[in-house]
Amino acid sequence: MTTPASDSPYIGRFAPSPTGPLHFGSLVSALASYLDAKSHNGIWLVRMEDIDPPREMPGASDYILRQLQLHGLHWDGQVLYQSQRSDAYLSTLQQLQDRGLTYYCQCSRQQLKKRGGIHNYRCQLENPAEPTALRLALPDRCNIEFNDLFQGPQIQDVKQQVGDLVLRRKDGLFAYQLAVVVDDAFQQITHIIRGSDLLETTPGQIYLQQQLNYTSPQYGHIPVATNLAGQKLSKQNLTPPINHETPVKNLARAMSWLGLPVIKDANIASHTSCDELLAWAAAHWQRKLVPPEMERVASDGYQGDTTA
Ligand code: GLU
Repeated sequence: MTTPASDSPYIGRFAPSPTGPLHFGSLVSALASYLDAKSHNGIWLVRMEDIDPPREMPGASDYILRQLQLHGLHWDGQVLYQSQRSDAYLSTLQQLQDRGLTYYCQCSRQQLKKRGGIHNYRCQLENPAEPTALRLALPDRCNIEFNDLFQGPQIQDVKQQVGDLVLRRKDGLFAYQLAVVVDDAFQQITHIIRGSDLLETTPGQIYLQQQLNYTSPQYGHIPVATNLAGQKLSKQNLTPPINHETPVKNLARAMSWLGLPVIKDANIASHTSCDELLAWAAAHWQRKLVPPEMERVASDGYQGDTTA
């Protein structure tokens, strides 16, 4: 499952966590991954990362899918739900455990804080029957380098800068790092275009791919949309969901924020359909147009525009 299918050299994906409806920031991520895939005649998949029930909002998965469709962002194939992938995660955990690459950890946040938040030593637990996290033991030197499609060359010593990766959380849930790596390989993803808030997690994912003998996809991290206070747009800081009355305008704004030369015409909504606009954008998409920034303010209208 590690080699991309020969008839489709590009397989991209959008992988939302169903914690709430799409807002401008998540629409931008969906759109960037869609346009990068379509402009390379690629396949674009949607994967629902619904493995963290305490953080999820009931009904959000279906809602997000409807929002994508409303904007003409039609995915290829079936949606993959991580909640149905436990067997794959378990067998991968087992494989890593059998190879002696993991250890149990019961450290509290408080204990972690004392060590600067970075856990990079093997815990010696006498009774691992208690609720424990399972971590991947990284080697002392774990420098991972890659060339990000938007942010340029990256290097991280995962051991020193992030610490040993949590694969299964203390509450028993599978960790994001495990699930994302297993599923990107399972879906034969070749290109991952997502927000720069995930850039820090990428070297750990590449290291885990290497341990599992998976081919690493190419990564591209677009800027994260922030409010004027510099906070990432999110439900927590009351970013409104995208306005369902104005899908064409929402897309045009997201495109323009991504650097595409959309005519900033208030009448665009009455002239163009989502499909037409997306076809135009796929034909004009160029990675170099995207501002090579980690963060980018979404000025007033971009933050939600419930009035348009
Ligand atoms: N599910 C993650 C999120 O919504 C994205 C994961 C990814 O793109 O790797 O933040």
